[in-house]
Amino acid sequence: MKQKKFLLNENDIPTSWYNIQADMPNKPLPPINPATKEPMTADDLSHIFNKECSKQELDTEHAWIPIPDEVREKYTYYRSTPLVRAYALEEALHTKAHIYFKNESTNPLGSHKINSALPQCYYCKEEGDTNVTTETGAGQWGMALSYAAKLYGLEAAVYQVKITMQQKPYRSTVMRTFGATVEGSPSMSTRAGKNIITKDPRHPGSLGTAISEAIELATTTPGCKYTLGSVLNHVALHQSVIGLEAEKQMEMAGEYPDKVIACFGGGSNFGGLAFPFMRHIWDGTHKDTEFIAAEPASCPKLTRGKFEYDFGDEAGYTPLLPMYTLGHDFKPSNIHAGGLRYHGAGMIISQLIKDGYMHGVDIPQLETFQAGMLFAQTEGIIPAPESTHAIAAVIREVKKANEEGTAPVILFCLSGHGLIDMPSYESYINGDLTNYTVTDEEISENLKSVPEVDMDKIKRQ
Ligand SMILES: *Cc1c(COP(=O)(O)O)cnc(C)c1O
Repeated sequence: MKQKKFLLNENDIPTSWYNIQADMPNKPLPPINPATKEPMTADDLSHIFNKECSKQELDTEHAWIPIPDEVREKYTYYRSTPLVRAYALEEALHTKAHIYFKNESTNPLGSHKINSALPQCYYCKEEGDTNVTTETGAGQWGMALSYAAKLYGLEAAVYQVKITMQQKPYRSTVMRTFGATVEGSPSMSTRAGKNIITKDPRHPGSLGTAISEAIELATTTPGCKYTLGSVLNHVALHQSVIGLEAEKQMEMAGEYPDKVIACFGGGSNFGGLAFPFMRHIWDGTHKDTEFIAAEPASCPKLTRGKFEYDFGDEAGYTPLLPMYTLGHDFKPSNIHAGGLRYHGAGMIISQLIKDGYMHGVDIPQLETFQAGMLFAQTEGIIPAPESTHAIAAVIREVKKANEEGTAPVILFCLSGHGLIDMPSYESYINGDLTNYTVTDEEISENLKSVPEVDMDKIKRQ
């Protein structure tokens, strides 16, 4: 009988996270203070984030960071997650390629986001905070954070991108079920939100607007910390459990991936899966693995953005981050992959792209839903609209391999399921979805908002 699913024993679930920063040939440039242009210290960051995550964010020394026992115990409630050989998809694609996916949709919240929500809330509780706040796009991060906050006895306030709140109303109901307060962003409850609405009363919201509002709440409320579900280094660190498990599970399958693929919003599920494998490029054991991040054609920061210091949010409250960006006030089209509608990329990934260790592909919306439909009809799992980007990228690679007559081993991350995204699938099935394109003029016009920083003058950590 063909073995389809690979699971680990509890003892084999990782006890440390992998911090790729320690092994990178070129460390990421540091986040800088927008006013002074000086590198931020962990102390500076801890005005916004909890202390431990602030430290992890800038740690370029320790490759392995122990997972606190209390967090690891909660991981074991839903980990390991299955590594699955997609035989049915392979058959449908008439390919000799081997396709594996790491299924992060099996926890009750339905996405990989819980892997970082748990440690972030745990550290806040340990450090004596009482409240957490955040932004959420499609709502997966908001759901994960609301649940993790409840577990650790913290109050959660979530700003959800307004357009997505309307597209996917059940996600805010889930957050409220876990006891969180939810507001559509831009809202009238913060100065940042009021400013945005005054300028553009019909602003659909973006992750950038929601981040501004959450940071404003955190910095003006005692005992309240801001948490982020993507983009930052410490989030990718926590998500490394995905790749560390997958590495052991691929061993159980007796294979090693030639191509590692994940969808890309800010980089946490991509980094989580890819970084543990990428270390083998540098230790020389697997030098030829290809790493591919799949982003929406309507929000193409990796493939068409510019590597610059930019704000992580619309209002400019965050430190300046060195990243591939479309400009911090970029307004992505209303594609259904809400979690991929972000203007920038994580600092580690931006450096890795610049140094040629990975690359992005941008995929139009209709191609992603077509891929999602095929995956559903073969593997029986309805993927999150975000995850369909990874599947579409896999299918492109398979078609290429078929033409070349090769049979690569492909590993991708199924970052979440789409069971709360049925309105998106309904629109697709009814023929109501369209592709959105961005012109080069729009991108270069939008990049004018990026502040001027001379990158060559900034010292690496
Ligand atoms: C949030 C989310 C993403 C995008 O975020 P990354 O940090 O790039 O992983 C992708 N897939 C799902 C299911 C998500 O919830």
